[in-house]
Amino acid sequence: KGIKKYFPIKGGVLKRKQGDVKAVENVSLQLYEGESLGVVGESGCGKSTLGKAILGLEELTEGQIYFQDTEIQHLKRKEKIKFIKQMQMIFQDPYASLNPRQRIGHALEEVFTMHTNMSAGEKRQAVIDLLEEVGLKEEHFDRFPHEFSGGQRQRIGIARAIALNPSFIICDEAVSALDVSVQAQVLKLLKKLQQKYQLSYLFISHDLGVVRYFCDRVLVMYLGNTVELGTVKELFDRPLHPYTQALLSAIPRPSVHTKHKRIRLQGDLPNPANPPSGCPFHTRCPIAADVCKGEKPEWVEYEPNHFAACHFAGQPIA
Ligand code: SF4
Ligand code: MG
Repeated sequence: KGIKKYFPIKGGVLKRKQGDVKAVENVSLQLYEGESLGVVGESGCGKSTLGKAILGLEELTEGQIYFQDTEIQHLKRKEKIKFIKQMQMIFQDPYASLNPRQRIGHALEEVFTMHTNMSAGEKRQAVIDLLEEVGLKEEHFDRFPHEFSGGQRQRIGIARAIALNPSFIICDEAVSALDVSVQAQVLKLLKKLQQKYQLSYLFISHDLGVVRYFCDRVLVMYLGNTVELGTVKELFDRPLHPYTQALLSAIPRPSVHTKHKRIRLQGDLPNPANPPSGCPFHTRCPIAADVCKGEKPEWVEYEPNHFAACHFAGQPIA
């Protein structure tokens, strides 16, 4: 609720604060049990920072995080751990977080060593169960990270994320580095686990095709701001925000009958240390008017569960 994350910019010999990079600007959202909420936008739009802020990996500049009904940010450490264990993250490159000289089985056992009182035998069995759960085998226990393919390493990342029975997982570009066929398998695994354990996913991705296939709802971000939120169907069929319309126009369509014109945005993403006045998108918006420069559009629910922040929401631009 009301999440802001600013990174101070310091410069000069005195390291005086010179301003802030406004990575996440006043974001409020709800994630429901068992749903996948996609978060999309260009790189640098604040998607990953938002994910890390939710997990407490980044200190918030402002705002609150609620897990079920508890505000978790200000809990004492011991209390907090209970919640933190239920929230996990899967990264784009699990290889980066694996020790190349440690056998995979032992790396996974560490999770249980840290958070449970299991005996050595119990831990080994729990890891074997985990490996099987993600489509690997007992014989993989003694292998090293380099002996696995990209897809298998992502399965190991998933195994680690589900080890402590979480209810909420952030997938940050979790399949982006994989070949299309491997992507499909990993997405299928994520769906299977979601159904089995009622998992909620915050699914950060720059790939709208994957989001459309995988998610229930989509949040579109631009320059740290949320610009549109809706169900996959609503948002893909009737995008309200010009930025969403531009993003969607860039996806290849399967049908030749679909009207389809690529909307090319002018200019680059503005500097988040010095964002535009009014609507953050006005410097690149094809239908920007004077009001857009002066007034920041409010976040409005235009149709049930379909929100956007635009003075001309729903106006087609192509
Ligand atoms: Fe474009 Fe104006 Fe809407 Fe911003 S408020 S997206 S500039 S039309
Ligand atoms: Mg990112």
